Amino acid sequence: MCGIVGYIGRREAAPLIVEGLKKLEYRGYDSFGVATIGKTLELDKHKGRISDNSQSALRLKGKIGIGHTRWATHGIPNDANAHPHLDCSGTIAVVHNGIIENYAALRRQLTARGHTFRSETDTEVIVHLIEEEYGTKKDLLAAVQAVVPKLEGSYALLIVADKEERMIVARNASPLVIGIGDGENFAASDMTPILEYTERAMFLEDGDIASVSGSEVTIFNNG
Ligand code: GLU
Repeated sequence: MCGIVGYIGRREAAPLIVEGLKKLEYRGYDSFGVATIGKTLELDKHKGRISDNSQSALRLKGKIGIGHTRWATHGIPNDANAHPHLDCSGTIAVVHNGIIENYAALRRQLTARGHTFRSETDTEVIVHLIEEEYGTKKDLLAAVQAVVPKLEGSYALLIVADKEERMIVARNASPLVIGIGDGENFAASDMTPILEYTERAMFLEDGDIASVSGSEVTIFNNG
């Protein structure tokens, strides 16, 4: 398990997320990546060290973004297995710390229903499950609330979609904190990347799912 950082607010997200991921380097990692929501969803991810490869991630545009440093559990460290992972249409992105224990069965079912997988990770099943629910519900929070009960294992998740001005976050057995700013909010696996901007924070509990916009945080548990 490694690190995650998310941002929504008035600044460009990518430079803030890259700096935040560097502050999580002490946890160790084998690859990293960032996705932002600007006019479209933009993605940049690499095997290796942030300090050697961050130039292209810094150029991503948008004031909503999620980033990840990976410690591989399922699939070798390479560019394709690095997070964020996208759905088939490339409009929803997910980062994940933890392990999805029932991913193999979920992957078989999703493949049979026509989804195309681009990585060997356990994580990628999550974004395809969200894609299916989002297709009918057209609401990212409702889609994540429908998917989380299907996941067995540990997760801290950050999810964004190109049609939504918010991040959805969820936690089970993997740490996740929301930092409260002024017209901006943060999410991360620990306070280290957030402390520069705010000391106000909420530590999520197992089963929590939150909707995080620039001005509002709403936390749900059991609906
Ligand atoms: N299990 C996921 C993977 O192997 C996430 C690993 C992590 O927490 O960094 O990609």
